[in-house]
Amino acid sequence: MRILLATSELYPYSKTGGLADMVAALGKTLARQGHKVGVVTPLYGPILQKAGELGLERMDWNLTLMLDWRTVQGSVWYLNKDGQDIYFIGQQELFNRPGIYQENGHDYFDNPERFIFFSKAVENLAMYLPWQPEMVHVHDWQTSLVPLLLTHSMESGKLKRAVGTCLTIHNLAYQGVYASSVFAMANLPWGYFGPSGSEFYGNFNFLKTGIVFSDKLTTVSPQYAKEIQGQEYGANLNGVLNQRQNDLVGILNGADYDVWNTEKNPALKYSYSLKNMSGKAKNKQALQEKLGLPQNPQIPLFGNIGRMAEQKGIDILIPALEDMLAGDIQFVCLGSGSAKYEEQVNQLRAQYPDKVAVYIGYNNELAHQITAAADFFLMPSRYEPCGLNQMYSLRYGTLPIVRATGGLVDSVIDPSESVQEADGFKFTNYNSNHLARTILKAMAVYYSPEKFKLMRSNAMKADFSWDVTAKKYTAVYESIFRKVT
Ligand code: ADP
Repeated sequence: MRILLATSELYPYSKTGGLADMVAALGKTLARQGHKVGVVTPLYGPILQKAGELGLERMDWNLTLMLDWRTVQGSVWYLNKDGQDIYFIGQQELFNRPGIYQENGHDYFDNPERFIFFSKAVENLAMYLPWQPEMVHVHDWQTSLVPLLLTHSMESGKLKRAVGTCLTIHNLAYQGVYASSVFAMANLPWGYFGPSGSEFYGNFNFLKTGIVFSDKLTTVSPQYAKEIQGQEYGANLNGVLNQRQNDLVGILNGADYDVWNTEKNPALKYSYSLKNMSGKAKNKQALQEKLGLPQNPQIPLFGNIGRMAEQKGIDILIPALEDMLAGDIQFVCLGSGSAKYEEQVNQLRAQYPDKVAVYIGYNNELAHQITAAADFFLMPSRYEPCGLNQMYSLRYGTLPIVRATGGLVDSVIDPSESVQEADGFKFTNYNSNHLARTILKAMAVYYSPEKFKLMRSNAMKADFSWDVTAKKYTAVYESIFRKVT
């Protein structure tokens, strides 16, 4: 099959979260499985600066796109990687900036314009690439206009072949909601803007547009697919999603073990595997040393990596740790986000300088090192569409402690589900007491070497490889293909 993936972030070129990892791994796997794969993504400033080093080549393809009454020019850059064609969309004013969506904690005010332009570029590639993509698979709100653009092109006869569309929702909370006037930049008939189209309570909702106009919808775990059809997690779109429930599938993300592994990993000083775990202890010691914590192998080390947002449970994590830090534990935290929580974790460090280490910012190498060094990974998310860090932790023999929500339900096995198969800990009620109690349970296992060893071994054997996951996507694509032709 000939598939074009469209994404606003793509690892290793641009990344703010799991979306970048997911599209990179999906593309690579589909290509390996023999499909023709193109991936299209914006050419952000930091990528352009390294264009030569990365081997990007400017194509002989100038984009001339309308945004309402304005004509905006763009360029297409190309790279062949892992059997895929990667296309970077250049536009000096819109994309040549340091950030992906924001700078200094403030979203770019012209994000709707930036991603309408990008979506039109994707449509252009879908229509005019010589290899004629059959499927266009878009991700999240930033590319959610593409299915409507293609629908319109097909309905108006501008696009003469059938192109199937699929939207993957990585996080329903981010919908791209803007004033209705923004819709004018799409240069589409206003007939598409209405309660059964792009409009949502008077505004223009990008994600809803994708939900309504894509042939198929997927989200990143079976549990989250169920949750978003209810009111609690539905972020006001549960009704719209309900209407499309027959076209909505939950597919648990895979983990890219080419990148996230403990045996061949340039970020790790010591390699290790289930057969020889001594490297894990050495990585723990190296991290303790690097971050100025006492180098004691006996003390359980808890790690946390991610956006410091309420979604990730940081508001219950801090009080739970305040309770726990009186005991003999260490806590290492890597992340950035809300200033309030950044300050609170810094306060925790000030209070317990020999137990807590904090790195505010984004650091991929340190993320690998923490995941390898820690004994437990804390992920008490309020909601979690899929979550990747728990899968990475499992592979690194670091037992995840998670709240039972979304993809965390689908990827972690608690001892209460199966003592023999358990590979992590789950709790249900979203409060710091329950989290603290679960941390205590984890510590009890830590001090029972046999139980700990079994759980660690189960964790490292858990397999979320992309080979199986990618086939679930091709099954979805094929079902569309049957439908549209
Ligand atoms: P989300 O996409 O909701 O942010 P995921 O768990 O799906 O959460 O994916 C997060 C990804 O981003 C993981 O690969 C994680 O290691 C990485 N990550 C998040 N914050 C940081 C950070 N501060 N430094 C390095 N990597 C980070």
